[in-house]
Amino acid sequence: MKTLDQIAAALQGYDPQALPVEQVHAFLQALVTTLPATASEAVPLFEALDRVLARDVVSPIDVPAHDNSAMDGYAFNGQALQAPNETTLKVVGTAFAGKAWQGHVQAGECLRIMTGAILPEGLDTVVPQELTRVSDDCITIPANLLKPGDNRRLRGEDLRHNEAALTKGQRLTPAALGLVASLGLPQVQVMRRLRVAYFSTGDEVLSLGEPPREGAIYDSNRYTVFGMLRRLGCEVLDMGVVPDDPVQLEQAFSEAAKQADAVITSGGVSVGEADFTKAMMKKLGDVAFWKIAMRPGRPMAVGRIGQAVLFGLPGNPVAVMVTFLAFVRPALLQMMGCTDAPPPLLKARSLEAMRKKPGRTEYQRGVVMRNAQGQLEVRTTGNQGSGVLSSMVQGNGLIVLHHAQGNVALGDEVDVLMFEGAI
Ligand code: AMP
Ligand code: MG
Repeated sequence: MKTLDQIAAALQGYDPQALPVEQVHAFLQALVTTLPATASEAVPLFEALDRVLARDVVSPIDVPAHDNSAMDGYAFNGQALQAPNETTLKVVGTAFAGKAWQGHVQAGECLRIMTGAILPEGLDTVVPQELTRVSDDCITIPANLLKPGDNRRLRGEDLRHNEAALTKGQRLTPAALGLVASLGLPQVQVMRRLRVAYFSTGDEVLSLGEPPREGAIYDSNRYTVFGMLRRLGCEVLDMGVVPDDPVQLEQAFSEAAKQADAVITSGGVSVGEADFTKAMMKKLGDVAFWKIAMRPGRPMAVGRIGQAVLFGLPGNPVAVMVTFLAFVRPALLQMMGCTDAPPPLLKARSLEAMRKKPGRTEYQRGVVMRNAQGQLEVRTTGNQGSGVLSSMVQGNGLIVLHHAQGNVALGDEVDVLMFEGAI
């Protein structure tokens, strides 16, 4: 395991006093390690949502197991089609889903068939019932309507026997749960949940239930952090609000690091903080203190205390959420063994001009919508102060103004990172 100094030495032009966002990513990638493959467990499917697969799911069967009908209609041999004329066939029976039809269909004959029913040997085409004319025990198929093979689902077209249906490192979505179930597998091998402890620091921070006090504020960071961790499927360890008191801080850090894979704190990492948080991090672990070239969320501390990775986030509520989304979330996913591609940035036309200084990354809260022409447009939520948490509630995404980017003019395209799927 590399020390923080070794990681820093490998980064070109590393400057903790003005660290570009890209370098933060590179640093964190080197800092965190993925849980060992042995840290996995078998869980029933209903408990597997959002978990990360610890090994490939190999299909024990072909899905579907037989060629079958995609429609309610009539199955026949496609060679019987009389293009350019109509085709008339005699109906000799009915095949229902769930049981194989016993019998034989001769030339000039067809079989009434339900969606999902097995196509008997020799039948490869289905005409939907609403497209046929029925008279007595015959059906007539209009000319030039079908070609052989239409409305047939092929054996193994979804998944093939012995092929990986899902791969190690994928996070299980609702669709993935359904896919595993379609293989007849009742459980999957997933990485164990990541354990993440978090607490807020600061003498001015009140826990819910405490009476209001002049100059004090209610702790919101523990709730946003809790929510974002839960969305990641982490096991959370809430350690409350810890005041600027060395004894209590030491106890909180030590306890958190002992029990968790990662520790997240908020507050106490800005320049000129008259508190003990930074001093305690330094005393107990290997920790770097950064000023990141970004807005909101400039100060941040990262490192290790014991075996745990430490993320010391700033105190401002929006800064906490943005730094979590930008840095902590990808790092935790890496620890969980998740190899899914990060959510894509979308392009939207800005409905406002925005002032932006090159040399830092800015994350503005935006409302992204589709205009009458179907194009994406975005406006900001207004006041972009890093304490204005309502902006995170009003917004549905972050407008990402990149490091080298300058002012944005009305109508310019900007990158947006949608919250949906991310938090
Ligand atoms: P700090 O990073 O400790 O200087 O805090 C920056 C700002 O965030 C200050 O206005 C704090 O009052 C505020 N703040 C710190 N911690 C929290 C918290 N847990 N919940 C809400 N606001 C906070
Ligand atoms: Mg503080």
